[in-house]
Amino acid sequence: MELQELNNLKLTNTFLILFVFVCEILTSNVPRPRGVSLSRASLYPPEKDFTCFDGSKTVPFSQVNDDYCDCPDGSDEPGTSACPNGIFHCTNAGHKPLNIASSRVNDGICDCCDGTDEYASGATCRNNCIEQGRSAREEALRRAELVKAGKQLKADYSQKGIQMKQEKQTKLGELQKNKEEAEKVRAEKEALKNEIEEEEKSALEYYRKLEEEEKKRRAEEEEAKNRAEATEIFNKFDSNQDGMLVIAELQTRHNFDKDGNGEVSEEEAKFFLFNQDSVDLENFISICWRDVKTYLMRDAGAFQAPPSENEEEAQTEADDMQESDEHDEEAHEDDEEEEDDQEPEAQEEEHHEEPTTVVYDDETQKIVERAKFARDEHSAADRQVRSIQSEIEAIQNYLNKDFGPEEEFATLQGECFTFEDHEYVYKLCPFDKTSQLPKSTSTETRLGTWGRWAGPEDDLYSVMVYDKGQSCWNGPQRSTQVRIDCGSENKLTSVSEPNRCEYLFTFVTPAACREAPADIRDELHDEL
Ligand code: CA
Ligand code: CA
Repeated sequence: MELQELNNLKLTNTFLILFVFVCEILTSNVPRPRGVSLSRASLYPPEKDFTCFDGSKTVPFSQVNDDYCDCPDGSDEPGTSACPNGIFHCTNAGHKPLNIASSRVNDGICDCCDGTDEYASGATCRNNCIEQGRSAREEALRRAELVKAGKQLKADYSQKGIQMKQEKQTKLGELQKNKEEAEKVRAEKEALKNEIEEEEKSALEYYRKLEEEEKKRRAEEEEAKNRAEATEIFNKFDSNQDGMLVIAELQTRHNFDKDGNGEVSEEEAKFFLFNQDSVDLENFISICWRDVKTYLMRDAGAFQAPPSENEEEAQTEADDMQESDEHDEEAHEDDEEEEDDQEPEAQEEEHHEEPTTVVYDDETQKIVERAKFARDEHSAADRQVRSIQSEIEAIQNYLNKDFGPEEEFATLQGECFTFEDHEYVYKLCPFDKTSQLPKSTSTETRLGTWGRWAGPEDDLYSVMVYDKGQSCWNGPQRSTQVRIDCGSENKLTSVSEPNRCEYLFTFVTPAACREAPADIRDELHDEL
């Protein structure tokens, strides 16, 4: 069947060639000015004056092709280069007729295959229209065969593409329903959560107050304890009980003999009085007690950091005072061991946690647990809605893609095709991206992200554009133009970089197989 059709096609082609020759014999002798196509011959009647096509002027017929431009539209000089906007027509018998800009007439370069554009330049142009016509027709035939073979595959692609879009459409409908349901669930869960959280808030409010009160009570207790301790020491050191602690009184206390020379110097005593000569009880408590206590406790080998931000500072000062004291050093070592056992963070944590160890009553505990459960349930419902939403978006994104007038390019989505040259592996993933991977490394460079179809108006699906790729060093973002042509299989056939950072791919696919828009018969028809 196919062989038969192919033979018919060849027969048609042979007939066509004969037909063209017959037509040419019949028409080539129609008199007309040089550079005028047969279809326009009637616009140049030699027996009349010539009126420019734009109607702006009428000149004697002798001024047609007199190498002087009379008409602004160039219509009086179809066969010379006198008018800048003129058009020269080559008949190109045996091949396709051609219109060229009149500036190319007699410019020394053979533009028409019949050589008619170089009639006075001295350039020797060989008429090779027959050969060119033959190879063009052979090419057309080859393409026709390719298109014929590819069209069946294209029909299959098309069918699959339509089916896929329908399936996605159905799936989208389902998902939209699911989403509505999930949103309802989420709203219910949110209402439950809000309700129980209100309950939780008021239940915890009671405990929050309790906690605060407890904290306050502890602080007060601590303060009172500290004060009592300080007062006791103050009274003990205030030998004459006059309510003032003076240097001399401290000097009688061997605890303050830091350098161990058997006496407490004035300087040593003054350190604990904050460099004052005397302090009363209130000042002793607020200013001196912290250091005194630190030191006394160290001295007693029972050091505990007093509740103070300047803990380290106090300790350092105390350390300075005891450097030569053997006993103290031992005590100091003990301290260090003790400190090493506990990480500073752990200490701190313990310190902060301590006042918040309120135990809820059973009822509150249940409310707290229910609130946590309600929050978890709501989060799960929310995740569900989001997950459906992202599926919906993915499908909508798919459905919005233009896979060709008959969805024939749809099956290419999700596939990738490669082309290798000596240095790189290039990749085309239709409707997704283009990339380049150097053979020496594994770092892929994105040459573009799917943008749009960009062929000419009557052949839109012949070019794809992938833009917004990785930026070139000190340059623009990379982009790729993919020329799409008919082929018997999907294949990336060539890659080049015509301009810096601008790539050109050629991809053949059965999806692009269809009759060329301009058929040789149409041109012949036009010529007749
Ligand atoms: Ca003229
Ligand atoms: Ca020329």
